[in-house]
Amino acid sequence: MHWADTIAEKLVERGEPVIETGTSISGIPHIGNASDVIRGDAVKRALENKDVSARLIWVADDSDPFRSVPGGMQELKDELGKPVYDVREGSFLKKYRDNFVNELKEFGVEPEIHSGTELYRSCGLCDEIKIAFEKREKIVEILNKFRNNKLPDDYVPWSPVCRGCGKISTPRVTGVDGYKVSYVCEDIELKGGKVGGCDYEGVSDALKGEGKLPWRVEWPARWHHFKVTCEPFGKDHAAAGGSYDTCKIISKEIFGWRAPEPVIYEFLTINGAKISSSAGNVITLSDWKRIAEPEVLRYFMFKKLNKQRDIDLSKIPNITDEYDNTEKAFLENGEKDATRMFELAQVREKPRFCGIPYTLCAVLSQIIPDFDEKTIVERVKESGYEVKDGDSLMQRVKAASEWVNEGYAPEYLKFELSEGKLTGLSEKQKKFLMKIPGELNVKWTPQTFHKRIYELAREADLDPKEAFKAIYQTLIGKDKGPKAAIFLLSLDKEFLKSRFT
Ligand SMILES: [Zn+2]
Repeated sequence: MHWADTIAEKLVERGEPVIETGTSISGIPHIGNASDVIRGDAVKRALENKDVSARLIWVADDSDPFRSVPGGMQELKDELGKPVYDVREGSFLKKYRDNFVNELKEFGVEPEIHSGTELYRSCGLCDEIKIAFEKREKIVEILNKFRNNKLPDDYVPWSPVCRGCGKISTPRVTGVDGYKVSYVCEDIELKGGKVGGCDYEGVSDALKGEGKLPWRVEWPARWHHFKVTCEPFGKDHAAAGGSYDTCKIISKEIFGWRAPEPVIYEFLTINGAKISSSAGNVITLSDWKRIAEPEVLRYFMFKKLNKQRDIDLSKIPNITDEYDNTEKAFLENGEKDATRMFELAQVREKPRFCGIPYTLCAVLSQIIPDFDEKTIVERVKESGYEVKDGDSLMQRVKAASEWVNEGYAPEYLKFELSEGKLTGLSEKQKKFLMKIPGELNVKWTPQTFHKRIYELAREADLDPKEAFKAIYQTLIGKDKGPKAAIFLLSLDKEFLKSRFT
């Protein structure tokens, strides 16, 4: 059974499924940030397939401090330490949040959108804040079980926003009276550099949302508020003594709410390295959509959760092939797991079919000018494939074209058809090539034609290696190129005749 279905079953038992996801927005939200909400969507779909409706919530963690300036935005340095929500009067957040929400939609994910800060400022969490303040001694006791550096007994679970300078990193709590927290604004060191305090001494009214709860209290407070029963998150939160462990206890003992069913997944890396905005190792959902289909990313994210996955953009054809195998299984009523993966990967309710190898699309994008659909469809059929949906095919051809043009394709898949006659070839090689045009009047599949190429080489008493070299040298001036059978079948017959004689 797929993991999403296993979790859905557990959630049905608990009743009224609410799946929460969240993203801190301190820079351009990337593919890693989309991990929990896309996976949360799989659980929602699995529930809907059981005729159980579910809420999928996405919260922008925008009351977190703006800790480091994203690359190329040095002008935001003076905003460090403010809640992300308030950076540039909200314009920073709005831009990235709205963009991310639109991107998610194109990947078939449409959660309820919430803002962590607005939740505080509209008194949405007032009940939970009151509970947290009233039971703060118990909270300290729980938190301290997991800390080496113990919190003092008079700890107040609240980070005020300074009324003097608007920062949330700099105020140091000095006392509490009811739900009003006094503070003094002091210098502090953040990831992105030193943040100066303004020496302001003031009072933060927690019930007016003039600050935030610390993460390990905020998370369970939200669970209680939204009645969350499921939460996907990365492995970092799941470590022993990590935030899920702590929050689970706080949720039950402080707020009286059973912690949500966790969906824990391993990290995503890009080209073998950690995703990092500051190191520039980031791809966004839009980046993905330019070179590959959203369904393929969904498929990728819905694979087993407990394995670290790497997105190697040069391997988009392989991931797409894997996805196509699930499509095949779906159409042929094949293996259950694969069929289910195909269903869950769909962006829209109505499945989209393509099934034309990505590498063939990459080849076609380089030999047929202006994406002429009629010719592309014709060549795909000549190559031994059935065109199920012209739009899907064209989408893939255009994506593959971008993939080649943006430099992700390996060298052998990037080519220009060369002009001219057969030169620099041995007699045997010439003899071999000249036989090829005469073979093309038969209906081949890439597999049968691949075998035939070997036979033709043998007939010409030619080492297969030399045979393939002859093909590539003549067509693209290289020793290696796209898979020969599929490449030859995709080319115009008259063109081949003229090149191979
Ligand atoms: Zn201040």
